[in-house]
Amino acid sequence: MSEKTIFRKIIDREIPANIVYEDDRCLAFHDVAPQAPVHLLVIPKREIPSVAALADEDAALIGHLWMVIRNLAQEFNLAGFRVVVNNGADGGQTVDHLHYHLLGGRPLTWPPG
Ligand code: 5GP
Repeated sequence: MSEKTIFRKIIDREIPANIVYEDDRCLAFHDVAPQAPVHLLVIPKREIPSVAALADEDAALIGHLWMVIRNLAQEFNLAGFRVVVNNGADGGQTVDHLHYHLLGGRPLTWPPG
């Protein structure tokens, strides 16, 4: 069996995280190295390595993640916010478990770099 990712260990409560939302399909928690006053990670519980690895059958799950992101943005009073998904090493992905960054609480500039 392959090594668990850090996010799988968070789902399994093997390492701590500041969890702000959980249901049967996903988990949301504060990023350990926040890049904005609010920096949350929203992840599916299902083992999906990246956007590139998505299956057509994941469509409903992905839709659900967006509803969770919408709700969290409201809950954290984010008037403006950014959702980022890094894919692959060149895309800046460092954890091979699909995750959405929800960033807000300050004006965000573009391009992100
Ligand atoms: P990526 O670079 O793969 O798009 O994003 C991975 C994110 O996970 C980074 O923003 C990083 O700060 C965050 N991260 C890495 N390890 C941990 C951890 O142990 N706990 C939490 N809460 N976040 C982590």
